[in-house]
Amino acid sequence: MKVEIEIFADEIVIPLDFNGKKKNFLALGALFVPLKKKEVLIKKLTNSRCLFDKSRVWVWNHPDCPFAQECKNKWHEQNNTEIHHEKIRSARPNNSLIEISKRWIKLLIDTNKNEESLVYFNILYIDLDMLNIDEFGTEKAHENIYNKFFRTLIHYGVKAFFSEYSSVIVKNVYHDEGSMEHHNYFPFLNLHKLQENIGKIGYVENTTIKFLNSDHRSYQQAENDLYRESQLIQFIDLILGTATQNIYYLSNDELKKNIAMIIRPLVSRLLSNPNNKNSSYNYYRKQKISIFPKFPIEKTEIYIQTLNDDFVKDNLRGQFYTDKSLEMPPFDNDQKSLNSFFS
Ligand SMILES: [Zn+2]
Repeated sequence: MKVEIEIFADEIVIPLDFNGKKKNFLALGALFVPLKKKEVLIKKLTNSRCLFDKSRVWVWNHPDCPFAQECKNKWHEQNNTEIHHEKIRSARPNNSLIEISKRWIKLLIDTNKNEESLVYFNILYIDLDMLNIDEFGTEKAHENIYNKFFRTLIHYGVKAFFSEYSSVIVKNVYHDEGSMEHHNYFPFLNLHKLQENIGKIGYVENTTIKFLNSDHRSYQQAENDLYRESQLIQFIDLILGTATQNIYYLSNDELKKNIAMIIRPLVSRLLSNPNNKNSSYNYYRKQKISIFPKFPIEKTEIYIQTLNDDFVKDNLRGQFYTDKSLEMPPFDNDQKSLNSFFS
């Protein structure tokens, strides 16, 4: 039995100051989409864009909407927005963005609860302080770390989620082009190396990473079908952003905290009990979050630059951990709405 999948990747690069505490880490996220489930997932995501209660079925153009008489062109334009976690802000809130973001995270939780195997993701945090990276914080060192752990991210995901198949064929790897602007990541050989890496369990068919604009509207204007794939880039951006908000508390924004609370029960379980087969959240062999490394690493430069992927796999395995407490305190949505009601 073989399975064909596509991968949609995104990342958050910091250092970032929050509450006087410096955060210096790299967050990598990848969505693994079996081709057989791609249509269903995109359909569920896009239908969540229709905020017109009578319909709940999304059509891109207002004239094609079965409710075109009651529904408004303006609503279609507003709901055809880019879902981007960074853009969720309490100051000048974009209602469509907030509503659709909530629905997308609920969709993740609901499909899990319904025991559907639809959403597969792997998230990996690299704690750069523990790598003593500042001592030799060259661009090259960051690139090497990035590329090495990007492969680890994909490799672990493929192994953890699809090991029941005798062969896993990675048809395409997509990446958000926006986040890559300032870096020279993904040298030409990256996916070729991954191909060797996952040799026993499958192979990468297209070793050229496809960079995608996360704003699908540019593809729509150009009548390019990639606006569909762009939805999946937006979805992993949102999952990564909301998970990271819970784990590292990067923003004090109330709307970011509000939406983070929807994914929180899943995130906290993934960290505290990642191998629980009986959780009602049904994440086992579908979703993973891990952090690297558990203990400070000396001579990281030598590890990263001179040693191969098998070294990371074999010798540093014990350095991956999950049992990290959430830095964001619980945020009471009801209390918030009550407060804004009376204020
Ligand atoms: Zn409509």
